[in-house]
Amino acid sequence: MVADLSKPGQTELILKGGRGGRGNSHFATATRQAPRFSEDGEKGEEKEIILELKLLADVGLLGFPNVGKSTFLSIVTDAKPKIANYHFTTIIPNLGVVKTKDGNGFVIADIPGIIEGASEGVGLGIQFLRHVERTRLLLHFLDVSGQEGRNPVEDFYAINKELKKYREKLSTRKQIIVANKIDVIQDETLLKEVEELAKKEGLELYKISAATKEGVQELIDHVAETIKTLPKEELIEIEDKVVYTLEDKKDEWEIRKENDIFIVSGRAIQRLMGRINIEDNESMYYLQKCLKNMGVEAKLKEMGVCEGDTVILDDWELEWYE
Ligand code: GDP
Repeated sequence: MVADLSKPGQTELILKGGRGGRGNSHFATATRQAPRFSEDGEKGEEKEIILELKLLADVGLLGFPNVGKSTFLSIVTDAKPKIANYHFTTIIPNLGVVKTKDGNGFVIADIPGIIEGASEGVGLGIQFLRHVERTRLLLHFLDVSGQEGRNPVEDFYAINKELKKYREKLSTRKQIIVANKIDVIQDETLLKEVEELAKKEGLELYKISAATKEGVQELIDHVAETIKTLPKEELIEIEDKVVYTLEDKKDEWEIRKENDIFIVSGRAIQRLMGRINIEDNESMYYLQKCLKNMGVEAKLKEMGVCEGDTVILDDWELEWYE
């Protein structure tokens, strides 16, 4: 990651532009008072940068598909997520604002699609994992009804494994376990297992039913209190802040010979050719002088360049003449 744009008006320098060209007056000498050539500006460097949008939510809902995250979001906020009894009903993260009694409110994001392999791009996971980064608290939803035939304890570890694989730091983000669908529990075994899990991992556990709203208000009140105590800033660590600058690279050049063609490349040549106006005689004369001074000409001769040979300088293909 190069930069985290999380503050209003924040700017980051990622890439410096090329040096500007010098005008013709710069090349005036006693004998050449009105030079007809000037320098073009240098080519700027190019870099492909991927911009990722990260939602700003205080609380993220984690959990396998169908554990009831959307249902929960729809009852505690004004958000109207699609709810359906099939997997991946949520294809974009849904956001909702919970209005608390003290009038403060907080934002919840449903982060769907985190399944095994998500950190490697399975399902829609990776697109959502990044939204987790901004949240200060995660509600880890587990279905304790057994309706889906899943084991909530295994699910818990599977999702945490993905979080950790995606970004080590995420695995230490505060989580609260939410055992959902307690209204349809037929067998208490899964709930017991989840209670054991919470104890073992030292995590708080809330038992709710998003369908009947049992336990939901208590959970929300607790979340509202908890996030007040959690830090807001520096959720993401920039591992290696890099500004790519033209100066970073040395002025080097090299020549290689391919099928009788001499290819001169390197930063120094790029910079030189950026300053040359190939259609201008004076400019070409200047090029020759530079090639001589840089030692390129000597090296080409050493490598056996002859009149009429093709010499490629950066992007330009020229014919060599003495
Ligand atoms: P998500 O994929 O985690 O967002 O899950 P959904 O919110 O879409 O819920 C999946 C299915 O479970 C839907 O049919 C919901 O109506 C149902 N569901 C969610 N919460 C509960 C609950 O507490 N009790 C019961 N009985 N069903 C629920």
